[in-house]
Amino acid sequence: MKKLITVEIAFVLAIVLIPFLMSKSCGTVSEDKTYVDIKIKVWMHEEQKVSEMDLEEYIKGVVAAEMPASFEAEALKAQAVAARTYAVARLLGLYTPKDGYHTDTPICTDPAHCQGYKTKEQMTEIHWGKRAANRYWKKIAEAVEETKGLVITCNGEIANPVYHSNAGGKTESALDVWGTPVSYLISVPSKGDLYSPTLDNKHEFTPDEIREKIKSDPDYADFALSDNPKDEIEIIDYTDGGGVKTLRLGNKEFKGTEIRKLLSLKSTKFTVSINDENMICFLTKGSGHGVGMSQWGANYLAMNGGTYIEILEHYYNGIIVKKYR
Ligand SMILES: [Zn+2]
Repeated sequence: MKKLITVEIAFVLAIVLIPFLMSKSCGTVSEDKTYVDIKIKVWMHEEQKVSEMDLEEYIKGVVAAEMPASFEAEALKAQAVAARTYAVARLLGLYTPKDGYHTDTPICTDPAHCQGYKTKEQMTEIHWGKRAANRYWKKIAEAVEETKGLVITCNGEIANPVYHSNAGGKTESALDVWGTPVSYLISVPSKGDLYSPTLDNKHEFTPDEIREKIKSDPDYADFALSDNPKDEIEIIDYTDGGGVKTLRLGNKEFKGTEIRKLLSLKSTKFTVSINDENMICFLTKGSGHGVGMSQWGANYLAMNGGTYIEILEHYYNGIIVKKYR
C-alpha cells in the first residue's frame, strides 16, 4: 500500500511539475498562424457569476485593472501580452492552482488569485474620473489591439508569465519563491523599481501583534516571542534577488515568503529592527512576489526607449513572443 501511495504521489507531482520541467530551456520558434478569435469564460468573483467574453476584450479589462493607464504605451503592450499569455495558459489548463476555486471556469477576476479585471465604467468610477476615461481606455485598447493574439512562449510551450508591481531593484527566481526552477523566471536587474513611488513601505508591529498573526496559522500554534525580542530576530540568508530567504524569529525559522504572508508584508526584500519601545519594524522594498515582470520596471524601460518585446525579453529569460494559433 505504501508503494502504491508513493507511486500516486509521484504521478500527481509529475502532472504538477511537467509544465515547469518542459520549460527547462527556450528557443524553439514555430510558424505564426492566423489568429482565431477566442472566447473565455471568466469567474466574476465580486458578482459571483460566470461571464463569457471575447478574449481580446477581456484582456483590455485586465490591463486596465492591473497596470496604471498613465504608464507608457510599450509597458501597457508588455502587460497586454503577459495578461493574454496568462489567460491562454489557463484556458489550456496550464499552471492552474489546485485549490478547488472556480473549477468550472479557467480564470477569475480576483487579483489575489488570477488576474484583476475591471470594465471601462468601473475604472472610470473608481480611479480615472470622466475627464481621463476615454483617453485612458483608448490607450489600453490600442495596447491590446497592437499586440493582438501575441503570447509568450518557451520551447514551444505557453509560458507562465507571472508579474508583480515592483521588484525592489532585482527580481526573484521562481526557485527561490516557489521552490521550482523555471528557465525563464530567473533573477534579473530591475533598476526602474528604485525610482518608483511604490518602492518603500514600513510595517510596524508590537510583539503581541506578531504573536497573534503568526499563531493564527495552525502550523505555528506553538510560536513564541518574548516582550523584549531584541535577540530573537535574525536574518539568516538571502535569495539571488536580494530578498530574505530565511529568518529566525522567536523560537522558529521562517522562509521569507512565509513571513511575508503571515505578516502581510509588501515584499520579502526587507530589513528588520526593534526600537526602544520594542516595536518590530520591517522596512520593505518593492511590492509583490518579485517573480517575472516588474510593472514599474517595465514602465522605466519603456520610458528609456524599450519596446514591449525588449521589456518581455528582459523579464522572461530566453522567451519568444509569437502569435497564438
Ligand atoms: Zn482565480
